[in-house]
Amino acid sequence: RAKKSGSDSVAWYDSTGDASSTDRLALLAELREALGSPHQLVLALQPVVDLSTGAPTGVEALVRWRHPRRGELFPREFIDVLENSELVVPFTRYVLERAIAMAADWAAQGLSVPISVNLSARSLLDVRLPEEVAELLSRYRVPAHRLILEITETVVVPESKTVTDVLDALRAIGVQLAVDDFGTGYSSLTFLTRVRVDEVKVDQTFVARMAESPEAMAIVRTTVELARELNLRVVAEGVETAEQRSELVRLGCDSAQGYHFFPPIAAEKISGVLHELVSSSGGRVIPFRQEDA
Ligand code: C2E
Ligand code: MG
Ligand code: MG
Ligand code: MG
Repeated sequence: RAKKSGSDSVAWYDSTGDASSTDRLALLAELREALGSPHQLVLALQPVVDLSTGAPTGVEALVRWRHPRRGELFPREFIDVLENSELVVPFTRYVLERAIAMAADWAAQGLSVPISVNLSARSLLDVRLPEEVAELLSRYRVPAHRLILEITETVVVPESKTVTDVLDALRAIGVQLAVDDFGTGYSSLTFLTRVRVDEVKVDQTFVARMAESPEAMAIVRTTVELARELNLRVVAEGVETAEQRSELVRLGCDSAQGYHFFPPIAAEKISGVLHELVSSSGGRVIPFRQEDA
């Protein structure tokens, strides 16, 4: 899929193939610029809801690039290029700071909802990441367990000593870890034995195919069972229909996110939505940890 850029119709970046090196360089130059300007990289926020009460159990931060000439760009249009460059370090720091600032803002409004941030594989090779996370959490006075870091098993090499050290250090701070897109990697099960996580996110492709594919259904069902067995939370991603929702409830899945509940929401609107969700679900946020109760 090649994205056509505005008026010049030049293929900009194709996530399935290869962007030309000129495209990459242009994109990186523009990203560098975006990181230095306040309103280009913004977070869209998608609530995760408890399937039995509808209460918000968390919010996932999803980056958007309000490009001054190309309009709104989605992560698939720039994350791959970013991950293969040095810019991933300042980018990750930027997203983490925006997300932690948001969690602080919610806390000030009495909303004890955790925020999830997607980490690229490359960030886990950055040995300074844990201390930067710790510094941000203390600067914004956000309890560590309000931050959930999502890692995708397809891109993380848990055999790498640096990666496991970084993950251990993050755990030591008290942040939560989630496996994103669970089931899409070659070694999903092995991953769980190597990295201690708090949450498993069932990949949206399985949720989407649940109704027509017995295989997809079996994967969702066994992931929910596995999570229960290992005492991990399980979140179903990409829930788009009421049928998928009831099937997930039937399977005993804890929580879900997807267009059926909410699309990713602009930062200006999210706290209003969270307040509404909390009051319509019985006036409290489902506690993740004892401290939040
Ligand atoms: P992900 O973490 O698995 O995020 C889920 C994606 O599914 C998001 O796409 C979200 O907008 C989309 N989605 C949510 N509900 C539905 C639904 O009901 N149906 C369908 N079809 N899709 C739904 P998005 O925002 O384009 O993000 C794509 C991927 O980009 C993310 O996958 C994540 O891996 C990556 N990403 C997003 N933000 C960041 C970031 O700040 N840093 C890094 N490193 N990666 C990010
Ligand atoms: Mg994610
Ligand atoms: Mg995912
Ligand atoms: Mg994904």
